[in-house]
Amino acid sequence: MKFQSFMIKYAEIGVKGKNRYLFEDALVRQIRRALKAVEGSFRVLKEDGRIYVAADADYDYEETIDALCRVFGIASICPMVQIDDLGVEDLCAQAVRYMDEMYPDKKITFKVQSRRARKNYPLDSNGINAKLGEVILNAFPDIRVDVHHPDVLLCVEIRQRINIYSEAIPGPGGMPVGTNGKAMLLLSGGIDSPVAGYMMAKRGVVVDAVYFHAPPYTSDRAKQKVVDLARLVTRYSGPINLHVVNFTEIQMAIYEICPHDELTIIMRRYMMKIAQQLAGESGSSALVTGESIGQVASQTLKSLAATNEVCTMPVFRPLICFDKQEIVEVAKKIGTFETSILPYEDCCTIFVAKHPVTKPNLNAIKRSEAKLAGKIEELYQKALDTVETIWVEAEPTGIF
Ligand code: ATP
Ligand code: MG
Repeated sequence: MKFQSFMIKYAEIGVKGKNRYLFEDALVRQIRRALKAVEGSFRVLKEDGRIYVAADADYDYEETIDALCRVFGIASICPMVQIDDLGVEDLCAQAVRYMDEMYPDKKITFKVQSRRARKNYPLDSNGINAKLGEVILNAFPDIRVDVHHPDVLLCVEIRQRINIYSEAIPGPGGMPVGTNGKAMLLLSGGIDSPVAGYMMAKRGVVVDAVYFHAPPYTSDRAKQKVVDLARLVTRYSGPINLHVVNFTEIQMAIYEICPHDELTIIMRRYMMKIAQQLAGESGSSALVTGESIGQVASQTLKSLAATNEVCTMPVFRPLICFDKQEIVEVAKKIGTFETSILPYEDCCTIFVAKHPVTKPNLNAIKRSEAKLAGKIEELYQKALDTVETIWVEAEPTGIF
């Protein structure tokens, strides 16, 4: 059966009271953005407290559903047939045709559930249910009614036009991106941080990103991998402004001057400071990392606390209680895993100590950092002055 339109049912945004229109408008914007990458032309309409997507004659159904399944805020997508109101007899004929085409095997049970939003329709909803039930039973000898657990719930909505649908494809849930502010994601080339970015976007947060590289110790290909990962996340989050920070000189200075078992913590404290500076300048109100308790030495509670100590902004760690395997499952689901496991070096791994501290002493760390005074300020400023900002957008579907 060929559908030309879809009804979009939304989740939490349905209960947002007076601000509801803001959420609906954001959802409409995000649906338009997602469909831009799909072949075909679409109209996205907000009508009678519903959001509809109407496709012009030629479009790719699978791609359309795929794209809609990446728009946060959508609870379900109902492919529907929309007909003009040409009277009750015509509606009966259309309902029979719909059931015939959708369910070639008629050994099923069904129930009609109608809604008369336009009160001047000649039958009320009970009348419509009874009438359509009757004509469908008459048309197909094998079909049965089951009002409690039907195989097929045939929904009929009488509005200006009439909507007929029976399938609901689950959407991703969450909130439309753009309804919950902006945050700066520390994006490395690993498995975790793209998943953390995805999870923030799912709650409606616009994601910016920062990547620290250390040329020539890290290659252009390692950087490209991060750009590729950001691009994969944009399929869900919308465009990402990716800031690439040259971290080499800061890392070298720390390496030369500070005890090696403290390297990772001190380095991470500088990363957070720079990320926070960039976040403030670009209107983000929080930082986001892919950290998870105990994953590595720098992610013990004490290490996290030591890193966090330099931050005045909230730091969100959506994966904090996830096991690695759980993170991997999400990464596979969202399509970032394969890129994340490509073997390119990361700036953290190059300067890593053999035996990093797992219970850093904050006073000791601060004493070590004090030795950087007089040198680090200039390097810090230089790192900020030489940031390269890359606007990352999703490419049309098919390329992925
Ligand atoms: P990921 O956590 O993304 O899989 P990873 O495990 O190699 O990568 P960790 O060393 O665990 O990274 O770092 C923890 C977090 O710190 C990352 O999730 C990421 O948010 C941030 N981070 C680490 N390295 C970088 C980097 N080079 N640039 C930006 N952020 C980074
Ligand atoms: Mg990690």
